[in-house]
Amino acid sequence: MSRDAQLDSESGAEAFAELQPALRKQLAKLGLHGDFDLVLHLPLRYEDETVLTPIASAQAGQPVSVEAEVISTDVMYRPRRQLVCKLQDESGLLYVRFLNFYPSQQKSLAPGKRVRLFGEIRPGFFGGEMVHPRYRLVRPGEPLPDSLTPVYPTTAGLSQSALRKLIAQALARCDLRDSLPADLREGLQLLPFELAVRYLHAPPPDANASTLEYRTDAAWRRMKFDELLAQQLSMRMHYRNRRAQTALALKASGRLCSRLIESLPFRLTGAQQRVWMDIEKDLALPHPMNRLLQGDVGSGKTIVAALAALRAVEAGHQAAVMAPTEILAEQHFRKFDEWLSPLGVRVCWLSGSQKTAERKRIGTAIKAGEVQIAVGTHALFQDKVEFADLALAVVDEQHRFGVKQRLALQQKGQGLQPHQLMMSATPIPRTLSMSYYADLDVSVIDELPPGRTPVLTKLLADTRRAEVIKGVRDACKNGAQVYWVCPLIEESEVLDLQTAIDTHAALSAELADLKVALVHGRLPQAEKAAVMDAFKAGETQVLVATTVIEVGVDVPNASLMVIEHAERFGLSQLHQLRGRVGRGAAQSACILLYQGPLSEGARQRLRVIYEHTDGFRIAHEDLLLRGPGEYLGARQSGAPLLRFADLTQDGDLLEAARETADRLLEKMPEIANFHVSRWLAGGAQWLRA
Ligand code: ADP
Ligand code: MG
Repeated sequence: MSRDAQLDSESGAEAFAELQPALRKQLAKLGLHGDFDLVLHLPLRYEDETVLTPIASAQAGQPVSVEAEVISTDVMYRPRRQLVCKLQDESGLLYVRFLNFYPSQQKSLAPGKRVRLFGEIRPGFFGGEMVHPRYRLVRPGEPLPDSLTPVYPTTAGLSQSALRKLIAQALARCDLRDSLPADLREGLQLLPFELAVRYLHAPPPDANASTLEYRTDAAWRRMKFDELLAQQLSMRMHYRNRRAQTALALKASGRLCSRLIESLPFRLTGAQQRVWMDIEKDLALPHPMNRLLQGDVGSGKTIVAALAALRAVEAGHQAAVMAPTEILAEQHFRKFDEWLSPLGVRVCWLSGSQKTAERKRIGTAIKAGEVQIAVGTHALFQDKVEFADLALAVVDEQHRFGVKQRLALQQKGQGLQPHQLMMSATPIPRTLSMSYYADLDVSVIDELPPGRTPVLTKLLADTRRAEVIKGVRDACKNGAQVYWVCPLIEESEVLDLQTAIDTHAALSAELADLKVALVHGRLPQAEKAAVMDAFKAGETQVLVATTVIEVGVDVPNASLMVIEHAERFGLSQLHQLRGRVGRGAAQSACILLYQGPLSEGARQRLRVIYEHTDGFRIAHEDLLLRGPGEYLGARQSGAPLLRFADLTQDGDLLEAARETADRLLEKMPEIANFHVSRWLAGGAQWLRA
């Protein structure tokens, strides 16, 4: 309180740079690094101090502003030390209690002083009382504020009144000129910037409280649009810069790609053909491709990656294919080898678990250009690995990799940037991908190969385990194979492992007539591969696994999956896991065993996974449940998300911002620069790679 008073007594406008270092540090915690950042620091909510309420007519639970005269102020010691101030207006008495107070407060609240207080009046021991209200001494007849009082997001030690003052000064000092030309702004039906921003910092008393609170009124829309526009502009600028760089143009030369397509035991789906055409077109340009290929689990992304890699080979260069786990990398290697070796292409595989001598040998072959396609884990981008002539980098399950790792692979080109194809089986809702992947081109495989039967999903309480085990036995007797997925224990990889080992022991005993195997992340690579091979070959019927099978494993004969403690898994994980079955022609099922009582979040997740099979729909629900920050995970970690716009509600604004961004960059680059510098001056960065 005394601190506020102190700051209030300071006067005169200071430019941001001249503020005390301690104050600047606090502001930095709020992401405020310059004057304009203060202008864009918008209120969380408002308090209405424009009208006074008589003490006697205040309703419990409603914050009110009252003005009263001090009758007495005393320190009391029961039930604990506190300052109690008795006040009075024409309508009645009010007791105000401060549990923490400064001696100076007792002095300033002397009998006869007039005080304006803001807070809730509750029935107390002596009558109506307020606890720790905001208050201010006033002169008799001092006018009431003529706008709502903003309440800003703040940080410890920075009072509302200090922030308000800084913001008011910034508003007075800054150039609030509209960044959009009037005709463009009117076409978009947006308010002028200055009007909108001033309105939000100081709305009139009759402002619509609910549209303000839900951030749907016209002033908020303008701010959200500007924020989205800045994001789109900065990402599209980045996109354009990259497109301006030079890369190897990979033109179709030999006939390898068409021979591969002809040799496949299946026909490409329409969606696969379409995305392959997108990619072909990109690769033929002398600029680096940066394309994200999205497709639900099982939609057939691998063959598209193989075609892209083959195109690089066809044009006389090398390609690298990186996967997040050894199981997946090895599986890719085998697929690539099976598809491409008959065409005379040399494919190798590189992983951290290989013996040093072997890795050296492969490294030498890559460097000498004897190998045309290198498949592997993150071992591929280690410093030691050098490519003779890398023209394309494919990154599978790209969300599993950090930005740094992907950048490192990009650096492997010889001076020129390699083309990049990123793949993801985590479908990203359109608005989210339009927003956070605006620096990439996006292709979507929105169709599954024919002949898949939808997976039947069942939710069963853990108490019905015995029935489930019987179901597993019956399925295996009919020639099917089963995944049994053990729960993820966040805090402890060791416990995680132990559960899997215990479950394996228990199931082996209960299903003594079947072959039950175990695979988990800690298994040595060779053993892991042997276990997977045996399962693929049908030699084992039940595979107990930790979530290592989440990504990419492809065993068409596996038609039943049991997931234990399904309530502990995230939605996209459940969807990915379930996608491991339903790959053959047989009717497949996924049994989600859960242990109650379920939290509300778990209940909702299980309902979504039970009701939906479409990955994009599940992704959308997931976004609604978790919000974009959680959802985007690795790519965005550390980078600021949108502050004002809400992608689940402001899709229309996002579309408009995207269109406007491209138009500005094309026709009015100086306006684009002005807008971006205004919004991003404080260092907000949507982009990390
Ligand atoms: P994902 O997109 O999850 O990586 P995969 O590339 O592993 O999917 O493909 C899943 C399975 O579907 C593989 O067995 C693959 O050979 C098969 N497949 C891919 N494309 C087709 C197609 N057009 N017709 C039939 N089967 C296909
Ligand atoms: Mg895959």
